[in-house]
Parts: sequence; structure tokens; C-alpha cells
Amino acid sequence: MNIIHISAECFPIAKVGGLADVVGALPKYQSNSTTKAQVIMPFYDNAFRKTNSFKSIYKSELYLGDRSFNFEVRILDKAPLDFDIFFIDVPELLFKDYVYSSEDTERFLAFQIATLDWMLTWENAPCIIHCHDHHTGLIPFMLQESHAYASLKNVPNILTIHNAQYQGGFSHELVHLIPDFNFDHVGLLDWNGMVNPLAAAIKCAWKVTTVSPSYMEELKIKANGLEGLLREESSKCSGILNGIDWNVWNPETDPALIKNYTINTIDSGRAANKKYLCDRFNLDFNKPLFGFIGRLVYEKGSDLFPEVIRESLKQTTHSMLLLGSGNAAQEAEFEHLKTEFEGSYNAFIGYDEQLSHIVYGGADFLLMPSRVEPCGLNQLYCLRYGTIPIVRSIGGLKDTVTDLSETNGFGICHENVDALEIKTAIDRGIALYNTTEKFNAIRKQIMEIDHSWNVSAEKYTNLYKSTTN
Ligand code: ADP
Repeated sequence: MNIIHISAECFPIAKVGGLADVVGALPKYQSNSTTKAQVIMPFYDNAFRKTNSFKSIYKSELYLGDRSFNFEVRILDKAPLDFDIFFIDVPELLFKDYVYSSEDTERFLAFQIATLDWMLTWENAPCIIHCHDHHTGLIPFMLQESHAYASLKNVPNILTIHNAQYQGGFSHELVHLIPDFNFDHVGLLDWNGMVNPLAAAIKCAWKVTTVSPSYMEELKIKANGLEGLLREESSKCSGILNGIDWNVWNPETDPALIKNYTINTIDSGRAANKKYLCDRFNLDFNKPLFGFIGRLVYEKGSDLFPEVIRESLKQTTHSMLLLGSGNAAQEAEFEHLKTEFEGSYNAFIGYDEQLSHIVYGGADFLLMPSRVEPCGLNQLYCLRYGTIPIVRSIGGLKDTVTDLSETNGFGICHENVDALEIKTAIDRGIALYNTTEKFNAIRKQIMEIDHSWNVSAEKYTNLYKSTTN
């Protein structure tokens, strides 16, 4: 079986969020003696491009309406990854030093068209085309409707929704950019008067998944306008929980950590990582440390942290450390709070992969007060590293974190996105930290929970098989 993942992100090449981690890990777990999983992604002008060399394996031109653009397919000269990866280079559109911008319609449409144009030339069509998020959402439509791709029409295709907030909508005035199709079926592209790539994919893909079962159920109620569509299409929809790359996210070998550790050396290992964080950010090593890692956007609930910091750090019982970037007003506020709460709060505003690993390895608790959380990877990394997650019970967080009050519970859960509830959850964390024996036992307990991709990869295999039954 040959599975082709098509995605805008893939770790370690280009990462904005969890999509990259999934596409960078799942193919490894799907590749075995009978199955080959490969990735097709855009060729960006980013750090990975600058530090690796590539060779061209295919050249052609694509059409966006009546405009033509040269494109090439490149592969890595040496193969440092565990699976094949193909880069679509459309120099005029895709080759930028960023992944996303506010004007992406033509960029990702060109990516999708180039991908299918190239696929037409393959000796053997893939067995499964697996699309990720709206950037690849027109592929199921084009496979079904565009005359040029008729020979690929019978290839089963899957859409995984990593985040339904972003749908890639554009005006019908640009519909002529999509390769020629039977215009009687233009309604498949439409949602609320716009061409909506995510909606088109939900309608046309053979199967639709979300990255956790709870998120699928939540989307049927609230999906930024697509809830009715998901209810209509529910017979082909399911949720498959993300896993994590067990080798990359391994505290025993993780090169990003200050000190590696196992379940047997957790105390000294985590202490060394916490010490580094406390020294670097001027925080008290002897107090429980509450961390946050993530995009500073409304979905993540990070807008509540200024109030949480102000209220909760009236007590001198704990420290808080934030790593994130995003909304400019939030960034400024988090910078500003540094002087007000010097010694008990600090922040790194920006994206720093290594620092994120050290926070997983050194903070005592990680806060995730998300309004929306399709799966959430941070809490899974926390578990693997022995950091206790404090989460709002929503989406994937609900599926993966059990509150302390329940049998075998190990996390702290709150119901609402509310500063007072977050503060109360922090207080519960402080109380747990002070019952040292229980705190240490839970840290060890969570390190043993298996969220590797093995289980979820098998669920995808079963889903692929169901498309041919
Ligand atoms: P989302 O995809 O919605 O951003 P996920 O929880 O699925 O959220 O994945 C977030 C990923 O991005 C995790 O690997 C997390 O460690 C990482 N991350 C987010 N913000 C930062 C940051 N500022 N620096 C380093 N890593 C970050």
C-alpha cells in the first residue's frame, strides 16, 4: 500500500503547530514491509531549505486560470528522515520564508494543482491520498470533479481536520482558478456564498477525520459555520486521537534537554531542567513552576493569563513561565507584566523549539485553558515528560486528561475558560505539589501512559481499508 500525505507543514521542515508534528510522525508509524507512507509538501524558503541540499526530479508548468507558473518537484539529496518527502516548488508563489500569510489562496491552490499534475505522471497511482486541513481541501473536489484528474478519480482520499477554525474561504470570482470541472457541481465548493476548501473537502472526501473523538462531536455543534455540514456528513466522519513521536519526544534521549532522565531518574533529571529554567528566567527553584507553551491566540485562552497572573501571583507560593507568540497586544502585555512580577513570572515571546522541550522537562505543571483544542499535543508531551497537565476539559484534552479526583486520575481539569477557574486549578496544583509523595507518584504514573502513534496509526490503517470495502 502506498499512502500519500499532502500537507502545508511537516516537522522538522516547516512547523507552525501540531499539524507539523502529526505529519512528521504518522508516516514513520505507517511504513512497514507492506506499506509505504510518503509526504508531499510545499518548498519554502526557510531554515531547513538553507541547511539542506535538494535535487529536482520533475519540472513542468501549472495553470491558475490562464496564467502559467513553472514548478518543480524536489527531493532531499540525502535522506535524513525516516520516510520519503517530496517538495513542490512553485518559485513565484510558494517559495517564501513563511508558511502562512493572509493571502494564501493562490499559493495553496498552486500547490494542490502541481501535486495532482505531477501525480498524473506516476506509473502507479497511490492507494490512498490523505489530505490535511484546508490547504489541501480542494484536492478531494478536484479528484472527483476536474476533468484533468479523471484518471485519479477512483483513488480513495481522506481529509483530516486538524483545526476547523481555518477554512481557506475565497470569493467565487476566483473559482476559474480551479482546473476545469462540470460547473453544474459548483455547489460542492460553496459554503455560505464563498468557495470554502474545508467544506468542499468535507463534502467530497471519502472519509473525514478529526484529531480526537471529542473534537468531532464538538464540531457537529460548533464549527465556525460548518456544524450543519458535519452533521449531514456524519456517516463518513470519525475522530482518531493523535499520537506523539515516541522517539523525538523521549526524555531519555532528547538532545534538547539540559539533563536526560527516565522514570527511575526523574527527580534529578527534572530538577536539572527546572534549575536551568529558574536560573535563566529568574524564578525560585523551590516553588512549583506553572508553564504555558503555545500560540497566543483566542482559541488557546492565553488572553486570560494577564488576569490569572495578576490574581494568582498575589500569592507568593509559585511561579509562572510563558513561552509563546501570536497576537501582538497579548505579546506586549506579557512583556509588560515581566517588570510587575519580577521573580515570580517571566516569558519568552517567540518560537523556540529547544526551550519548549526544556519547559516540558522542567516545569511542574503545564496550563492549557483552551477554548478550542482539536487534539492538543502539549498535554501528551507533558505526560511523556512527567509534567502534570492542567487543562480545560474540551476536545482532545477531554479525551486524554483525567482529573485527580477520578479513579487513577492524574491531571487537573476545569470546565470553563475563566480566569477564576484557572486560578483555582493552579491552587489545586500547589496543594498537590505540597503533598510530595503523591506528586512524585503521579509524575511517574503519567510517564507510563502510552500515547505513541502505534495505536492511532492502526486506526488510520483500518479507516483506509474501509474505503475499499
Ligand atoms: P496547535 O497546533 O493548535 O498550535 P498543538 O498542541 O496541536 O497546538 O501543537 C502545538 C505544538 O507547537 C507543540 O509541539 C508545542 O510544543 C509547539 N509550540 C507552540 N508554540 C511554541 C513556541 N512558542 N515555541 C516552541 N514550541 C511551540
